[in-house]
Amino acid sequence: MTMNQPLRIELPTPYAVGTVNCYLFTSPDPVLIDTGVRSDESRAALVAALARQGLASADLQRIIITHPHEDHCGLAGWLADHSQATVWIWEEGVDWLLHFPERLAERVAYYRDIFLPGTAMPVAMQTAVLTYFEQLKASYGPVPADRIRTFSLADTLCFGGLHWQILHMPGHAHHQTCFYQPDSRQLISADMLLHRAPTPVVENPPPGLPRQPGLPLFMQSLDVLEGLAIDSVYPGHGPIFHDPAEKIAQQRKRIERRKQHCLQALAEGHQTLVELTDHLYAQRAPALRFAGLWMIVGYLDLLQTEGRVQETEIDGVWHYVLTNNHPTS
Ligand SMILES: [Zn+2]
Repeated sequence: MTMNQPLRIELPTPYAVGTVNCYLFTSPDPVLIDTGVRSDESRAALVAALARQGLASADLQRIIITHPHEDHCGLAGWLADHSQATVWIWEEGVDWLLHFPERLAERVAYYRDIFLPGTAMPVAMQTAVLTYFEQLKASYGPVPADRIRTFSLADTLCFGGLHWQILHMPGHAHHQTCFYQPDSRQLISADMLLHRAPTPVVENPPPGLPRQPGLPLFMQSLDVLEGLAIDSVYPGHGPIFHDPAEKIAQQRKRIERRKQHCLQALAEGHQTLVELTDHLYAQRAPALRFAGLWMIVGYLDLLQTEGRVQETEIDGVWHYVLTNNHPTS
């Protein structure tokens, strides 16, 4: 068995997440998994990392995207423009590569009209969040449609001389795929399995459907990963690691603990998302509480799935109360 391992390339982003990883397989042909954001700094760092392997961007044969977030696919357009590479993505996520600004505009509209008003967040903070989303546009460059290739979940991808299974791993992003290689027990884990649990990003639901509950889906994705034999994890952020079972156990424990905190806060009468976030993330500066709010939505989604919490909408604002099915601890 050829044991071909990817090279981790760490690239800067302008976001709170810090750096993002892409992974390079140099043989049999140069293949890059994810690309980093579109920025001068990120491009320079990637070009330098390729050069250290004796490669130029023009040598890349394929670029494979784990999920269409700007820190993972932002530079794909530039790379396609400077190589003959094809750009591969799961068929359900391809629309984001083709129409990133339009899809982002839909998400912004959902946040502006429904989600942010529903949180009861102060208007100035709503504006700040919308501005943040708007500026993500600059971190993505369009990929020419004729260079894009799609894969389905039933396909197998061949790179690094190995056959990789494609896993749909919703939770952080609906359109997220991880790549698993059973013989060498390697997992390219995107933003699914990280050193700490990823944020369950609130996404605008498809027309006519309810919003997808991110954290419950993440827990299901964890269940799937727990059933696999994995020795090496190549995460979307942070160093490569080799103890996925411990990481998963820690994350489950922390989520359970924070879910209990959420139940307590509800028992004390905090009812709206902004009240719960201010209470449970009081130690964080208000401007930095937004990722916390996504987590709270996640805990409430879990508690609703378990039948312990009920959501009601009052004048466009969501209120959460304990059901009397269960004791609070
Ligand atoms: Zn992501």
